[in-house]
Amino acid sequence: MLQFSGKSVYKGIVLGPVTVFGKQDDPIRRKKIEDADVEIERVRAANEQAKEQLQKLYDKALKEVGESHAAIFEVHQMMLDDDDYLDSIHNMIQTELVNAEYAVAVTGDNFSKMFAEMDDEYFKARSADVKDISNRLVRILEGKEESSLSSDKPSIIVADDLSPSETVQMDKKKILAFVTVHGSTNSHTAILARMMNIPALIGVPLNLDEIHNGMMAVVDGFEGQVIFEPDEALCDKVKDRMEEEREKLKLLESLKGKENVTLDGKKINIYANIGSVGDIGYVLENDAGGIGLFRSEFLYLGRDNFPTEEEQFLAYKQVAQMMADKKVIIRTLDIGADKQVDYFNLGSEDNPAMGYRAIRICLKQPDIFKTQLRALLRAASYGNIAIMYPMITSTWEVERIYEIVDEVKQELDNLQVPYRLPEQGIMIETPAAVMMSDELAQMVDFFSIGTNDLTQYTLAIDRQNEKLDDFYNPHHKAILRMIQMVVDSAHKYEKWAGICGELGADPELTEEFVRMGVDELSVAPSMVLKLRKIIRELDTSKS
Ligand code: PEP
Ligand code: MG
Repeated sequence: MLQFSGKSVYKGIVLGPVTVFGKQDDPIRRKKIEDADVEIERVRAANEQAKEQLQKLYDKALKEVGESHAAIFEVHQMMLDDDDYLDSIHNMIQTELVNAEYAVAVTGDNFSKMFAEMDDEYFKARSADVKDISNRLVRILEGKEESSLSSDKPSIIVADDLSPSETVQMDKKKILAFVTVHGSTNSHTAILARMMNIPALIGVPLNLDEIHNGMMAVVDGFEGQVIFEPDEALCDKVKDRMEEEREKLKLLESLKGKENVTLDGKKINIYANIGSVGDIGYVLENDAGGIGLFRSEFLYLGRDNFPTEEEQFLAYKQVAQMMADKKVIIRTLDIGADKQVDYFNLGSEDNPAMGYRAIRICLKQPDIFKTQLRALLRAASYGNIAIMYPMITSTWEVERIYEIVDEVKQELDNLQVPYRLPEQGIMIETPAAVMMSDELAQMVDFFSIGTNDLTQYTLAIDRQNEKLDDFYNPHHKAILRMIQMVVDSAHKYEKWAGICGELGADPELTEEFVRMGVDELSVAPSMVLKLRKIIRELDTSKS
């Protein structure tokens, strides 16, 4: 048995086979070869196999996500037939007498750099695609398996690290747990694990070379441990624990349909956070009162171009309709910082968390913003949608947002497109917004406190920096005082204030939040019933 410890992101326990999500592939070795024709034939065969894999991916994507997303696999197939690309590989093999793997990798790198340098945005975007097809060819030449997640069985994903766009592309039904060498507890991958109700460990000092696909493992989120190749006795113990957990969940199920009310009659809304339409199942399953944060930027991740107004409209409309008359708070795109999207061409920044992100992009590039607003206003006719703006620091930003919203309304009026202007609120996730909350409360319909960013900006701690996890103290008095201040400002003007950051789900603070007068907690769906239980057992009349 191989045992490692890490930081637990979600308390759960699971036993299952491992899939290594390879990122840190070994560098490709240059080898001298004797027969160039043999290597060229290997490239030809690998090319055929790559096209077959891509055809399968195309067919799968077409069924699951539609033609516009599937098209990328067609483009990759065409690129594999590109004469310049193939000639370059063949020439290198013939003139330098090097192995096929090396020739493909070097050609891929060269072409990718060449595309990246081009001015034309379309060609720039092809840079990543050339890299992708070259990696695919190299993998086939090396006899490695296709990306793990294409396996049919659910498995424990072990990786060096996972970016939000990698995680978002995974088929969630096939993931039993996450184990990563890097990553911070406040990253979006961690947030996703909580959403999915699955154990996750980060900062696990693994040597990925020792781990291989199909190995059995136990991920114990309670103890913060992962054990590879567990013996039979441990497997039996874990199976019992999994059964116990299932029983506990069943007990929580009896709270479905009940109110979030304390023994002394205080009520609070418990909503859920989601990242995509596919997450609504978790929301309904856990009986959340609404959606307090739909991170709409996930619609923009893991793809090559902007989602169209129609695509967005359909997604928002579907969420609104599935939630019937329950509130659905959709946050406008919060791209930037760790949520990087190539086609936004944001460029590199020294300090992206404090950089060009979220509402700043929307105000500087109103065309992107307006497309989303049009989709939101149109979808609002189909349910109880509210719009929420992220990363606000000043009142002028809200004024400017309202001007843009007015322009969008005017455009829709001119086109005689039906719409509804829903409630509009802001996230309070910067210390500036806290200090200005008195004035901001007069301008908006509600506040939702984003404690993840508020903590990082208040304590000056990069939430992505795993070295600082011990310093990232969301229970810091500064944060709790800020929450009280925001709630008081909202109530002064008869507005409501909620918390949608991860702190809202912290059971140790639920009582304090209720006492503070917080009106809503928006949490991972898996936490809804757990918080309901705590609230129903609380009596705030007693100190
Ligand atoms: C937050 O900052 O607390 C928040 C909810 O937004 P995100 O985690 O998406 O930045
Ligand atoms: Mg935030």
